[in-house]
Amino acid sequence: MSKKTKLTSIVEAAIYLEQIGLNHGATGNCSCRDGDTYLITPSGIETQNLSEDKIVRMNFSGNIVDSISNLKPSSEWRFHQDIMSQRKEVGAVVHTHSIYASTVSLFGSELPPFHYMIAVAGGDSVRCAPYAMFGTQELSDNIINALIDRKACLIANHGLVAIGDNLKEALEIAEEIEHLSQLYIEARKLGEPNLLSKKQMSEVIERFQTYSRWTKV
Ligand SMILES: [Zn+2]
Repeated sequence: MSKKTKLTSIVEAAIYLEQIGLNHGATGNCSCRDGDTYLITPSGIETQNLSEDKIVRMNFSGNIVDSISNLKPSSEWRFHQDIMSQRKEVGAVVHTHSIYASTVSLFGSELPPFHYMIAVAGGDSVRCAPYAMFGTQELSDNIINALIDRKACLIANHGLVAIGDNLKEALEIAEEIEHLSQLYIEARKLGEPNLLSKKQMSEVIERFQTYSRWTKV
């Protein structure tokens, strides 16, 4: 994929997140790997004002390589960078403050296996990373731990992180986790939902690895 295409993709990803209601204003951020650098949405720019020339290119030492509009990267660049530098298979990271995932995160609780689609995150739960101040190494470390063997996690009192081979996959997973969070909140109004067993979830995870659109391509 050319550099121009990746710039276009990241702007389109940010616009898409706002269009489907997962982000608002200047909250949330996206990044994608591009060779030995990565592209990330800038700090403090509302999506409606975002364009390719406002995307920031960083190296994996945390330095700006290119910022045509002299903007700073998202204040949450550290965990984007740490995820992509520690997980070589990850090509993109999406972070949102979306309503339903953030609501579940306020209780510091994981999403348990109440629905088979929990397996889109790669396991039998979507963990919740403990709270730490945004932009800190502590928060990044907490997220990295919560993402072990997973493609998504909640962040306590904050929001959601989804990762993928590319922006398309990371967006699809973020959208699905937001939907599952809404379902979980609705279910809890009625009581404690039945949970799937480890065996049932392993079967789904295996099936996803073989047949589904979540399969790595
Ligand atoms: Zn955030």
